[in-house]
Amino acid sequence: MLRCTSCGNTYPEKFMLRCKCGAPLNLIRHYSGKFKDFLRTQFLDIRRYLPLLGGDLQFYPQIVPPLTPVVEKKIHNIITLFKLEYLMPSGSFKDRGTYITIAKLKEDKIKEVVLDSSGNAAISLALYGLSEGMKVHIFIPKHTSKGKKRILKILKAIVHEVDGDRMETHIKAEEFKGGVYVSHWYNPYFLEGIKSFAYEFFEEAGEIDYAIIPTGSGTMLLGAYKGFEELYKFGEIKTTPRLIAVQAEGYESLLPMGKRKNRLAEGIAIPYPPRKEEIIEAIEKSGGMAISVSEEETMNAWKKLISMGFLVESTSATVFAAFEKLISKDYFEKGSRILIPLTGSGLKNLGEMMEIIMGGKTI
Ligand SMILES: [Zn+2]
Repeated sequence: MLRCTSCGNTYPEKFMLRCKCGAPLNLIRHYSGKFKDFLRTQFLDIRRYLPLLGGDLQFYPQIVPPLTPVVEKKIHNIITLFKLEYLMPSGSFKDRGTYITIAKLKEDKIKEVVLDSSGNAAISLALYGLSEGMKVHIFIPKHTSKGKKRILKILKAIVHEVDGDRMETHIKAEEFKGGVYVSHWYNPYFLEGIKSFAYEFFEEAGEIDYAIIPTGSGTMLLGAYKGFEELYKFGEIKTTPRLIAVQAEGYESLLPMGKRKNRLAEGIAIPYPPRKEEIIEAIEKSGGMAISVSEEETMNAWKKLISMGFLVESTSATVFAAFEKLISKDYFEKGSRILIPLTGSGLKNLGEMMEIIMGGKTI
């Protein structure tokens, strides 16, 4: 069932974004038994976890998100575990949420959808939607990178450019009447798909002390937290990892808003996320914290990640910038094990990357 995060009203599992009171909804499911008993071990992709993600097998999309690798590196006596989410079919972790969302939309016979996005969620929905014969309307801010816009056109999405920021784009998309609005900021099925990130990481790398998560709308943080909480309830982990939410300077929702804008973090430039209260609760319950990173810190971290062989987009570098900032403050205990997800591919906006890195251009 779906339950309202504010008033507690419940609804049957149909595709819907908000409660009548306007607040976001969450899927509530209870599992008993052992985690391993739920796994479909014949699969080495997201289908491994489907009994925990819900839905009807016949509706799952043809494109299947794979298991993404984990790369371990020892940095200043800390064990860092980079999870390469940018190797997903559409180049970002959003494919996990899209996969479950599309299955639900198909089950409910919805064929025309509307989404607003800074790029990655849009590309993911357009890719999966195209292969399933859906009509996909995408609202993006005009300043979205050219590379991402080109991919959306290749994927036959109907692109609506909004001359405004990320929040204005969200309002325009919600007002549009040409299809069912599927905002991943609200969509409870999207979060349910992201849960698989935590299951998968646990199977690959075991327990960790911290997870450093890029946090704009909070989909990755909330989805991962839900997955880790379930692993805790199954008795698989002793405690949920402490969540460190990374925000972009000038767009903070969890910290006082910085005066300068971090323009290298378009993916998390979301100052008013609808699930803010849930994000705060997850961070507090896990014993974590929020941290903001500047454009300069993001740029330096991005260059380092590329030199380490991780061809990610600049938003993804915010987590490594936060890691370095916290290392310099001796925040982590020696020997800590830290999950650092690398969420989006750098190949989508290679042109902009070249201009910034090779040409010395500042955006
Ligand atoms: Zn409600």
